Formats: sequence, C-alpha cells, structure tokens
Amino acid sequence: MSERPHISTDCAHAGEEPLAPGSTPSVMPIYQTSVYDFPDLEQVDEIFDHRKPGFIYGRYGLPNHAAFETIAAKLEEAEGAIASASGMAAIAVAFWTLIQTGDEVLIANDCYGGTLGLASRDFSRLGIATRFVPTTKLAGLEAAISPRTKILLVETLSNPVWNVIDVSALAEMCHRKGIKLLVDNTVATPYLIRPLTLGADVVLHSATKFLAGHHDITAGLIIGGREFIGRAREVQIRMGSSLAPFDAWLAVRSIKTFPLRMAQICSSALAIAQFLANHRKVETVYYPGLPAHPQHEIVRRTMRGLGGGMLSFDLKGGTGSAENFVKRLRLIRFAPSFGGVMTTISHPAKTSHRSLTPAQRAEAGISDTLLRLSIGIEEPEDIIEELERVLKEI
Ligand code: PLP
Repeated sequence: MSERPHISTDCAHAGEEPLAPGSTPSVMPIYQTSVYDFPDLEQVDEIFDHRKPGFIYGRYGLPNHAAFETIAAKLEEAEGAIASASGMAAIAVAFWTLIQTGDEVLIANDCYGGTLGLASRDFSRLGIATRFVPTTKLAGLEAAISPRTKILLVETLSNPVWNVIDVSALAEMCHRKGIKLLVDNTVATPYLIRPLTLGADVVLHSATKFLAGHHDITAGLIIGGREFIGRAREVQIRMGSSLAPFDAWLAVRSIKTFPLRMAQICSSALAIAQFLANHRKVETVYYPGLPAHPQHEIVRRTMRGLGGGMLSFDLKGGTGSAENFVKRLRLIRFAPSFGGVMTTISHPAKTSHRSLTPAQRAEAGISDTLLRLSIGIEEPEDIIEELERVLKEI
C-alpha cells in the first residue's frame, strides 16, 4: 500500500483497531457490527460448526443478543433463549419450528389479537388447522385435542379481563395427550410465574412490555430446552427476525431493574384495584390480585399471590363515559401498549380487540366502557388522586 494517505481507505478502516488487551469495559458495550473478522478459514469452520464459541454475522447472533438471551434464560430457569425482533416474531419462529402442513394447533381464545390473527390468517393459508379454545376450564379442552393436534398456546394472564391459567394442570394434560404446551408469559412475567418449572415446553415473551419496561424498544424472546432452542435458532436465522444490537443492549440494561419495577408495580396495582373496586362509579374491576377474581386461587398457588401490573375496570353510566374519562386524564397517558414505567390507559374495544365483532367482544367480556390500566412505577397516591378526580368529573 502506498505511503500517501488515501481518504477512502482511511475512512473505511481507521478507528477499527481492536482494544488493547486488558481494557475490559464494566458493562457490555453495544456491538454495533453486522459481521466479524476471521484470522483464517479454519476458524470460520470451527465457529460455523459450533466447535468453538464466536460470532459470525448479525442475523446469526451478536454479543448483545447473547447477553439478553443469557439473562432471559436465567429468569425463566431455562436451558436457552433466543432474542427476536418482536414478540410476534418470537411467536412465529416458535410455531415455524414445531409445526408443518397438516398439523392442527389449539390457541387460547383470549390470546393477544396479533397471535389470533397470525393463526387465523397465515396458518390456514399454509394448511395448518387452528382452533380457538377456552382454556380457563380443563373440561372440554381435552376433547378438542385430535390426533393431528401438535400444540396448545395459552397466556398466563390474558388481556383484558386477566384470565389466569393453571400451567401445571394444562402441562399434565398436554403431555398425556402427546402435545406441546407453549406459554406466552408477557403479562405475568417471570416475576410472578416461571411456566417451564411447572411443565410448560416453551415460553414466549413480548419483551417490549414489562421485561424491557421503558416504552422504548420492541423485542421478543423464545425460551426453552436446549434441543428446541437449537432448532428454533436455525429457523430464526432463515427467517431473519433478529433484534438490533442497540435494542438488545437496552433490554439488558432495563432488565437489571426489572424486579424493582415489578415490586413497585404489583403493590401499586393492588392499591389502585382496591380503590377502584370500592368506587361507586365503577361497575367491575378485573384484577387477579383481588380475592374476588374468579381464578384468584391459582394466583395464590402459582403466582406468589401477586396480581401483576395490569388491571381493567368497567365504568357505570353509558358508553359516553370511556371517552369522557380518557379525555380528562393529565398524568395517565392513553397509549395502546403496556408494561412501561409510566402508567398508561387503553380502551380494548377501540385498540387491542378492535378486530373482533361486537358479539365476540361481548363474549370476551369487553364492553365499550371497559378501560385497561398498565400500572407504572409512580407513587400510587398520584395515580389514585388522578383517577378519583376524573371519576368525580364524569
Ligand atoms: N404477546 C402478548 C401477550 C402481547 O400483548 C403482545 C403485544 O401486545 C405480543 C405478544 C406481541 O408483542 P410485540 O408487539 O412485541 O410483537
């Protein structure tokens, strides 16, 4: 190479020298690279064939993914985890790993709308039969399993009336019938329950919600045993649903305070649920931490008695009230997601359950006056004060 500086070569290479050995950052930096250099072809072979640890290419996994996956596997007491670009990407990869044309899957009828849409629109096109089933009662569910059924997917706490499932009982039934139990643990989180320890085969997360918890990234997780995770990783590499390194870094940074956030969120949610339950303008409160919740016994038995950070309530006084209510809020934001540090409110009929027919919404207990709160880490008194003011005004 000539001695003369060549601007284009300098721009491409300068500043990319490795750090001096021994300079160890206390916190993992963001490895914002899409590819790794190799000293020779032998090392390429070794890393591709998993004979040596190492990184190759962004879609195959980077150090920030590995860090996020390690912490996620620990939280769910699993052998392995895969970080995905979103909760929906995680769900799609898990299914693509386990099913094929001709199979049938059972999906809890109270699952997230995006999951129901994936199953009803995309699985059917690929010749995979889907049945939407109620999962809070075991009776009847077992009869829905046919010789073609391969999977049952449920959510530990389901939106927006927070049905609670009995993971151990479902896992026992699924295994007796030779099918796999997949559990979306997004809402309950491993702070309340670790479904793999109760017999579930795979756990899925929208880490966009409580795990990352700051309303700033979209991410997903597939969590399970070594053999399944190995196969699912191959599928994810082919599908290309990998997470951006910065988002993986933010997820790891955020999970460090996950238990502190959840402790505050759960105790505030209980106080707020109790306040609403005693208010004369509130018709019904749906919160699994209240003894009046129909599955509170399962919460006590499997979720350490904690009801989590989500609650819904139905207003008295006609359909105008929900609109009236939301418009008057100052501190609580109307935002159709959940699980962040700020308390947010949503209107399931107009957002998460918009695609359902009025009859389907009525069957799921979703009225036009139902509002959903995601409790944040603020002082609960401030949230209660705001709710009290608005309830007085409407
Ligand atoms: N699972 C549940 C229970 C959800 O509520 C959501 C989104 O709201 C998802 C999965 C999908 O997650 P994401 O939006 O990160 O793709």
